[in-house]
Amino acid sequence: MVSLTVNGKPRELEREASLPQLLRLLDVDVRLVAVAVNGEVVPRRQHEGIVLRDGDEVEIVRMVGGGSEDDPRPAIPDPRPGGAEGGAEVVIAGAGIIGCAIAYELSRRGVSCLLLDGRRLGMAATNAAAGILAPLAEFRRPDTLVNFGLASLRLYPAWVQRLREEVPDIDVEFALDGVLRVAFDEEELAELRAGLRYRGKLGLELVELDRALMREVEPRLAPDVAGGLFCPQEGQVSNQLFTLALSRAAQSRGARVVEGCPVLGFRTRGGRVAAVRTPQGEFACDHLVLAAGPWTRPLAGKLGVEVQTRPVRGQMVALGRMVTPIRYVIWGPRGYLVPRANGLVFAGATVEEAGFRIRTTKRGLTQVRQAAFELVPQLRHAREHFSWAGLRPGSPDGLPILGPLPGWANVTVATGHFRSGILLAPITGELIAEAIVDARTPEALAPFSPARFSG
Ligand SMILES: Cc1cc2nc3c(=O)[nH]c(=O)nc-3n(C[C@H](O)[C@H](O)[C@H](O)COP(=O)(O)OP(=O)(O)OC[C@H]3O[C@@H](n4cnc5c(N)ncnc54)[C@H](O)[C@@H]3O)c2cc1C
Repeated sequence: MVSLTVNGKPRELEREASLPQLLRLLDVDVRLVAVAVNGEVVPRRQHEGIVLRDGDEVEIVRMVGGGSEDDPRPAIPDPRPGGAEGGAEVVIAGAGIIGCAIAYELSRRGVSCLLLDGRRLGMAATNAAAGILAPLAEFRRPDTLVNFGLASLRLYPAWVQRLREEVPDIDVEFALDGVLRVAFDEEELAELRAGLRYRGKLGLELVELDRALMREVEPRLAPDVAGGLFCPQEGQVSNQLFTLALSRAAQSRGARVVEGCPVLGFRTRGGRVAAVRTPQGEFACDHLVLAAGPWTRPLAGKLGVEVQTRPVRGQMVALGRMVTPIRYVIWGPRGYLVPRANGLVFAGATVEEAGFRIRTTKRGLTQVRQAAFELVPQLRHAREHFSWAGLRPGSPDGLPILGPLPGWANVTVATGHFRSGILLAPITGELIAEAIVDARTPEALAPFSPARFSG
């Protein structure tokens, strides 16, 4: 729980939220108010960059006449066209990190985009994620997914640098300061060690640490840790702030975002989608991207094609704040810990087939806590701030599903990122934008073709 004071009254949030999220929750029209956080007035253009933390004091003052003086932009009209003329060159169904990364890259290439989300931007799996950027995951050989993840990780620093210039008021909390993989017995250690032989091929530094060194590097680790591997070039990003920054940068180049606007169906003409249908009217498009996470399957189903993504639930808890916090992302055999910039430790995560039920369960959270306490026993005494669940978009072979929708000339699918959508957002954004602009699927997308499941 996050405890805030809003206009002098206590207000509890289930978890951290950005300032715009709080204002939406309170049904406040930002055009008519001035907002101060902890005594400092926050210009409207900086709202997105503010993440509200436990103990923050928020003052919302209604302004006479409406509109904020420091914001010269005209009030944004309801982005609702009432007809197909409100469309764009590319309409993207789903404004999670994947839809936002694609809109960002398309807008950089001068393509007009419209992002439609049935709920709120970035509030599904994207918001639920831990933000770990670790292509080696449980440490496997350099296979298709690991190589794709490595390529995306290499893009991250340039993306973050650009976003810093384009959206200077949002710090995406990007840090490649290392991931520790932990083994508790000889068998687990042997598994980690086996990976060392691929070191050269992976192009990442990997250092084996014995029990004593592990505890030196991360003193809070459990005493019965047998040893492990340290990769100094992996790390983390704030999945929420990174997604917000992507959408803001895309919007600054003319992309539009409409929330609360589910795509319900399509108007088609000669093997092409001419427009998407929503409760807010039709939006015409030259090209359509389906980036609706696990909901891509029912959407593509309306076009008569089966996209084999499915929801895979993950539950997590936020613990903290410890007097001596952990320093690194810690990846254990049964769970992981992520020390976030705000001092909380995110512990995750279950991997469950539970359909579209986005909720935590007693059993799931117990499993997550046990895995966390096994890695860092002091966490037993940490306060549990909040817990949550999200639905990862899974796929039958564990690989993303990226490329043309079979049978449709102007529809692209971008989903199935499962446990790595935050990591894979930059490479997905770049390759899908390239495919749309060049009207040709890049070679690098071949292993992820949606057609691989047909026939
Ligand atoms: C607990 C957990 C921890 C994770 N940790 C990590 C991690 O540490 N690192 C990592 O790389 N990945 C992690 N992931 C995975 C990552 O979060 C996902 O792969 C990624 O967020 C998928 O992004 P997306 O944009 O495809 O889907 P989503 O974020 O689910 O976005 C899809 C959007 O589509 C919208 N939508 C649905 N139907 C429609 C419709 N009909 N019309 C319009 N919009 C629609 C939804 O409202 C939603 O906003 C984690 C996931 C979970 C659940």
